[in-house]
Amino acid sequence: MDLGLTGRRALVCAASKGLGKGCALALAREGVAVTITARGAEALEAAAEEIRRATGVQVTVVAGDITTEAGREAALAACPDPDILVNNAGGPPPGDFREWDREAWIKALDGNMLTPIFLTRSVVDGMASRGFGRIVNITSSAVKAPIPELGLSNGARAGLTGFIAGLARQVAGKGVTINGLLPGSFDTDRLRGGINAAAGRSGEDAEAVADRRRAGIPARRFGQPDEFGAACAFLCSVHAGYITGQNLLIDGGAFPGTL
Ligand code: NAP
Repeated sequence: MDLGLTGRRALVCAASKGLGKGCALALAREGVAVTITARGAEALEAAAEEIRRATGVQVTVVAGDITTEAGREAALAACPDPDILVNNAGGPPPGDFREWDREAWIKALDGNMLTPIFLTRSVVDGMASRGFGRIVNITSSAVKAPIPELGLSNGARAGLTGFIAGLARQVAGKGVTINGLLPGSFDTDRLRGGINAAAGRSGEDAEAVADRRRAGIPARRFGQPDEFGAACAFLCSVHAGYITGQNLLIDGGAFPGTL
C-alpha cells in the first residue's frame, strides 16, 4: 500500500533507539524526511546513519533533552513546520507512590504530558493552515490498564490522553489527526532494563524473567520496534485521515478485554 507520504516532513522525538527509532525508520521508508532527537549524540548519529543507509531520505539530528524548553526549541528550529509529529520521551521510573514528592511528579508530567502538549501547540496551527497534519503520541498500555508500580506513568499519560481527546476534535476539520499508540511489551532497551532489574531483585536469570513475561502474552513474544513503526506510519498515512482521537493498543493481545 502506498501511504501517500512521499516528500512529507516529520519530527520524531526520542528516536535514537527503540520505539521512536522504529517510527522514524518506518516513516523514512515511506519517503518522509525525518528529524530525530535524543539526548545522546553518538547513538543519535548512528541511528540517523542507519536510517539514511536503509532509505536514502534526508535525516536531520538534534541532540537534546526534549523535556526541556531548550530541547524543544532546538528540535522545532531544525524542523519548524512538520507535517508529522511523533511525540515520545523516556518513561518515568517505577516505584511506590508514597515516595514520590512534587519534584518526581513534575518531572513525570514534564516528560510524558506537558512536553507532547507544548510540541503539539507549536505545530498544530501550522498543520491546520496547510490542511494536513498527523500527530502520534507514544504513550503506554498503562493508559488502558494501569500498571501499579508505574503510577507516575499511569497518571501523566492519562492526563495527556484526556487532553488530546478534546483537542483532536477541535482540529479534525482541518485535516489534522491526533492519535495515541499504546505499546505493551516491546523488545527495547527500556524493556530489557526492566527485566534485568526484576532479575536482580529476585536473583533469577534475566532470560527466565523474560520467558515468563513472554508466556503471559497471548502472542507469546515481545513486539518489535519495526512493527510498532509500521502502525505509526499507517496512522500518519493519507488513508488514516478519518481516524482521530483514538488510542491503539499494540500488545500482542495482553489486555484481556473485548474493547
Ligand atoms: P528506549 O529503547 O529506552 O529508547 C528511548 C529513546 O528515547 C532513546 O532514543 C533515548 O535516547 C530517547 N530519550 C529518552 N529520554 C529522552 C529525552 N528526555 N529527550 C530526548 N530523547 C530522550 O525506550 P522505548 O522502549 O523505545 O520507550 C519509548 C517510550 O515508550 C517510553 O516513554 C516508554 O516508557 C514507553 N513504553 C515502552 C514500552 C516497551 O515495552 N518498550 C512499553 C510501554 C511504554 P537518550 O537516552 O540518548 O536521550
